[in-house]
Amino acid sequence: MSETTKWTYLFSEIMHAQEEVGGDWEAVRTLLGGKGANLGDMTRLGVPVPPGFTVTTEACNAFLAAEEVLPPGLWDQELAAIRAIEVASDRRFGDPDAPLLLSCRSGSKFSMPGMMDTILNLGLNDEVAGQIASRSGDECFAFDLYRRLIQMFGSVVLGVPEDLFEAGLAARREAAGVEKNSDLSGEDWHFLTDHFKRSVRSFTGEDFPADPYEQLKLATAAVFKSWNGKRAVEYRNASRIPHDLGTAVNVQMMVFGNMGAESGTGVAMSRNSSTGEPELEGDFLLNAQGEDVVAGIRRTRPLSELQERMPRTYEELEKIAGRLETHYRNMQDMEFTIESGKLWILQTRDGKRTAQAEVRIAADMVDEQLITKKEAVQRVQAEQVDFFLHPQLEPTDERHGKPITTGLNVSPGAAVGVIALDADTAERWSKRGKAVVMVRSETKPDDVHGMLAAQGVLTARGGRTSHAALVARQFGKPAIVGVSDLEVDIEKRCIKIADQVIEEGDWISIDGTHGTVYLGELPTMVPDLENPYLLRILEWADEFRTLGVRANADYPGDASRARSYGAEGIGLCRTEHMFFETDRLPIVQRMILARSVTEQNEAIAELLPLQRKDFAGIFRAMDGLPVVVRFLDPPLHEFLPSHDQLVQDLADLKMQLQHFHTMSEMDDALDEIRMKRDFLERVNALREVNPMLGTRGVRLGIMIPELTRMQVRAIFEAACSCVREGVRVQPEIMIPLVGHVRELEVQQAVLEAEAQAVMDESDLEIDYKFGTMIEVPRAALTADAIAGRAQFFSIGTNDLTQTVFGISRDDAESGFLMYYIRNNILASNPFETIDRDGVGRLIEIAIERGRSVRPNLEVGICGEHGGDPASIALCHEFGLDYVSCSPFRVPIARLAAAHAALDAADDGSR
Ligand code: PEP
Ligand code: MG
Repeated sequence: MSETTKWTYLFSEIMHAQEEVGGDWEAVRTLLGGKGANLGDMTRLGVPVPPGFTVTTEACNAFLAAEEVLPPGLWDQELAAIRAIEVASDRRFGDPDAPLLLSCRSGSKFSMPGMMDTILNLGLNDEVAGQIASRSGDECFAFDLYRRLIQMFGSVVLGVPEDLFEAGLAARREAAGVEKNSDLSGEDWHFLTDHFKRSVRSFTGEDFPADPYEQLKLATAAVFKSWNGKRAVEYRNASRIPHDLGTAVNVQMMVFGNMGAESGTGVAMSRNSSTGEPELEGDFLLNAQGEDVVAGIRRTRPLSELQERMPRTYEELEKIAGRLETHYRNMQDMEFTIESGKLWILQTRDGKRTAQAEVRIAADMVDEQLITKKEAVQRVQAEQVDFFLHPQLEPTDERHGKPITTGLNVSPGAAVGVIALDADTAERWSKRGKAVVMVRSETKPDDVHGMLAAQGVLTARGGRTSHAALVARQFGKPAIVGVSDLEVDIEKRCIKIADQVIEEGDWISIDGTHGTVYLGELPTMVPDLENPYLLRILEWADEFRTLGVRANADYPGDASRARSYGAEGIGLCRTEHMFFETDRLPIVQRMILARSVTEQNEAIAELLPLQRKDFAGIFRAMDGLPVVVRFLDPPLHEFLPSHDQLVQDLADLKMQLQHFHTMSEMDDALDEIRMKRDFLERVNALREVNPMLGTRGVRLGIMIPELTRMQVRAIFEAACSCVREGVRVQPEIMIPLVGHVRELEVQQAVLEAEAQAVMDESDLEIDYKFGTMIEVPRAALTADAIAGRAQFFSIGTNDLTQTVFGISRDDAESGFLMYYIRNNILASNPFETIDRDGVGRLIEIAIERGRSVRPNLEVGICGEHGGDPASIALCHEFGLDYVSCSPFRVPIARLAAAHAALDAADDGSR
């Protein structure tokens, strides 16, 4: 970087910028930021864009690296670029006779709405403002512009508290006897301009700079600095935007939406950002400046009204929207200004949208031949599918009562929580585990941490494109804005809705899908995935993915749901969950407490018909798809009451004995004491210091072979009866927690004998597989020996993570592990995303060694990681056959698996 580095590009020099970075558009966006790149691009397309230039993100990074000194050569280049704007506009910066006013806006590669600074109306001073007033005869216009400059410049560049200006405005409104700023007169604005200058002087000890060039220089530096402002950093953390990109600065000729009735300003989306419907959507204000719309300070009008008031301008806007959409092949979010009837486009970017809108737009654009199926699939984020499983309020019934108010439904889903009136409170309460709904007059970018912490957001002001709405949609937070009868009383810490006072901390429920607000804690439900656009995207995803997707399901109902979500089989049926059912637990307990083998076998025999029924239900639900049934896994003490509880109960019962009056009461109590003593004795006998490393998994089956036999019989009897009904079955029988091949051999002998016996009795042959989980390191390391026996592996990443790291899956996440993650000792939670270097390496070894002896060895994963998109990408890379996850994550896994396949193919072709 040197004097000769090119730091600025005129919008009309976009081709030059693109050549400079080798033609790649992503690289242009990195250099000029998204806004700058698109302003240049629009200029190239012939869209009416006010002339201007972009200062590169490289200049920002150089400025920040040099301890906030503008890099050499930058200022001279800015001066030259201003000359070019002067020529294009036929106005001059600082010249009272033909004044050119400039805006100075941030714009990073990825949109960060409202998170960085902007200063408008640069170039005004007493002389220029005076001349504009006398030439136009509109003092109101001239001095409103001037006071806005001092206000924005004062707070952003000079650090004067915004409240100081707001207090001045309020005082003047009161003195003038008006309610709205728009009712203030030219004289009022002139007065306020002087007042604001005095405020700047008394707060900073210096005068507001009258020199336009000094204004621009300081504004450029302030925008650079805002890259590292608190709210920008927080937003980047939450959105995973890298911190080293820097922001560009866009300097552009001001155009004015506040020049009377033929002027206005607004925001337009080329499609509906909530539903995705193909229609122009947005808000505008007549006779206003852009920030009035975005800040949500004045109540905006829907764009349909623009169509009525200025049909030609609306038509032009619609055409431009269409042209930009076709060019960018994505839905556009545009800022526009109409200056005395002339339409200007100030910005365009890919529009933020809800998950519903995302899937609809992607599917529609495939039909419109704007994008390919592959692009549509890649465009929808796996996490967005989660939205379709978001809670919604249960369908309206009497329990809801009437909504207490309504507002704009800007971000769908239901949020139920206690009211928090500011972002810090919302964050604090949420950290303590409370569900909160943040209620504000309007949200500012500073509130973003509160929005992230809250379940949902409710504001009195704002429109569909206001800050609250944009941010809420992006983070999938249900939100309602523009609730006109909502008043927030920060001092008394309460809100008022139509005369009803509700305290902070009271429960409230909001329905962001319909824009309705209810008092109290309403029941919510998870909707079904029946959105037709999503179903199409998922079908296309299935065409691209190579990984299979199965579900972890333990009951017939779960299995049916999983199948309806697209599962191609059951990857894990944890039979212990069937044992925990209330009607079965006493039988399981009898089995554990049995004093003789006969007693034990009697209990096991009682379990047989129950298990058989469940297996038959699952086979029917999956009709012909593979079903992995795993033998009993947890330590037996989990089926008994806890030791401490039993000791406590016994002590209580003994105390009570002294107070009984009848013999029968005493007999009952003595019976109970006897029973609890039995339990306690058995619990003591089964007690282990490390139960997760104790008698569980395959070890149980070896110690109680009758149990294995019963489970085999239940599976095969169920399979035989299903086959007789005409249902196809594909059982895969899985042994958990194997560490040594001998364990597998012992169980296999028991299993094969019993399976054969059942098949002989039924005179049927069932095709089945015999396999094992790989969930302890020794199994992975000796996978070649194990694959000599096992026909399939299922990687149990929950236990494998526990045993590879040597950390407890039950305790770590409520202890040191979170500290590790917060302090960057670990980049992510290994129980959420597979630890590639340790656990991942062992998985690779297991697959490699297993397939070295059995090339067609089927390998799947059934730990929680099977539903995590980043882990799914690893599973694709490792060459697994399928992932298995909870039924609710199946659709997410289908999409993530397609992304993994497409990304790998893209990488391969690069
Ligand atoms: C595993 O350990 O990853 C697994 C799927 O088994 P469980 O969670 O039942 O121990
Ligand atoms: Mg396990």
